[in-house]
Amino acid sequence: MTTQLPVAVLGAGPAGLAAAAHLTERGVPFVVFESGESVGASVQQWGHVRLFSPWRYNIDRAAQRLLTDDGWRPPEPATYPTGTDLVERYLMPLARLATIAPHVRLGHRVIGVTRQGVDKLRDDHRGHRPFIVTTEGPAGITRTPVRAVMDATGTWLSPNPIGAEGIPAVGEEYAARWIHYGIPDVLGVDRARYAGKRVAVVGAGHSAKHVVRDLSLLAEDVIDTTITWIVRRGGADNVFGDQADARLPERGKLGADAHRLVASGRVQLETGFRIERAVIGESGLELLSADGGKAGPFDEIVAATGFRPDFGFLREIRLDLDPWVESTRALAPLIDPNVHSCGSVPPHGAAELAHPEQGFYAIGAKSYGRAPNLLLATGYEQARSVVAELAGDHEAAGRVELVLPASGSACGVKNEPATQIAEFELATSACCG
Ligand SMILES: Cc1cc2nc3c(=O)[nH]c(=O)nc-3n(C[C@H](O)[C@H](O)[C@H](O)COP(=O)(O)OP(=O)(O)OC[C@H]3O[C@@H](n4cnc5c(N)ncnc54)[C@H](O)[C@@H]3O)c2cc1C
Repeated sequence: MTTQLPVAVLGAGPAGLAAAAHLTERGVPFVVFESGESVGASVQQWGHVRLFSPWRYNIDRAAQRLLTDDGWRPPEPATYPTGTDLVERYLMPLARLATIAPHVRLGHRVIGVTRQGVDKLRDDHRGHRPFIVTTEGPAGITRTPVRAVMDATGTWLSPNPIGAEGIPAVGEEYAARWIHYGIPDVLGVDRARYAGKRVAVVGAGHSAKHVVRDLSLLAEDVIDTTITWIVRRGGADNVFGDQADARLPERGKLGADAHRLVASGRVQLETGFRIERAVIGESGLELLSADGGKAGPFDEIVAATGFRPDFGFLREIRLDLDPWVESTRALAPLIDPNVHSCGSVPPHGAAELAHPEQGFYAIGAKSYGRAPNLLLATGYEQARSVVAELAGDHEAAGRVELVLPASGSACGVKNEPATQIAEFELATSACCG
């Protein structure tokens, strides 16, 4: 019987482990497959970055109950963790709980999700057939039958290219050793790679501003370090954001710092530069734009150009995706970054996350497709709702436990005082870049 099989949770990041906590509380058998050698493997890759939301919004409620029962001492709720703090003080203790640890398979990369015995084209009672999760791990290839799948694999491992049109720029793949995708720790473990180098940062969001700011601190120490900041959009006004937003001082500060660095000449800003080619020359890597522009040569490129979901291992699953956001169609209008900041995305759950493939859900960053504005708190609410649905508690699945104020510009947790809602808005707004 399919119903006696476990639920598979793919990925042991914040959303996947929140799902594990809710499944534990409801007594639903589960197995978590994580490709990394530790839980929170993707968060570890930006472990040096401080979150913009304080601890009180970064811990799932079911996880907190289980941890508290186990004698865990919660971090100070008003303080802001780094990514490493999030992993070491929250995700690792959670994954070590006796009720969760035996069900977590580290070093198991999911390479396929299918319906047993049929491909995507065949109906043949597929809704009654188990899913098969195929993983690659220490013991080779393993096939695990499960009754439902919660895909919480995030998007961090699928960065966008530097090519302006969404595919790699001509030559980008050959230039791989010059390019780091993500947010390097330029003041820490990656310092030697960037010190005294000619560095280009590509991207307009908060991740790019973060790297530009860190590189400028490095350049104060190592004067030969030069920083060029390349953005696709035209006009510096769009790049710095609203630096004077009193409600969002952290975001404003990042934009203001970037503005100051550009105005002082310490960072050279190239706006409206749409990268078409990466050319390896004798003195470094040059970037060429479609309209004849040239930047460089550079020794290093930091691609802070965002992320996209990997659907490769879901090729045989019947998905209903929005054509451009790549979330479910029901979710897309709620999260479209052309319309929403992360502070104004309405809460949602199993109903909005359902695909035609009964029993398959994506939660967390993966559920948002290409939209960059997921909050941990939203991912936790998704996990709660989907687990309730899988447990047959349709009323709880449909209930909204994360309330976003009607103003549309702030978000908070049900019954939070206005000050905390404002703080949450402040804290979370800057993750959207
Ligand atoms: C720099 C940065 C700062 C952020 N700051 C905030 C903030 O302040 N507040 C906030 O609310 N949100 C913030 N976010 C947004 C969001 O909350 C985080 O991205 C969060 O990590 C998403 O959690 P997740 O569990 O969905 O995905 P992830 O954390 O990406 O976890 C996915 C997990 O799945 C694993 N995995 C991937 N592929 C496979 C596979 N094929 N098989 C098995 N396992 C796999 C990965 O190794 C990883 O452990 C931030 C995001 C970034 C990038």
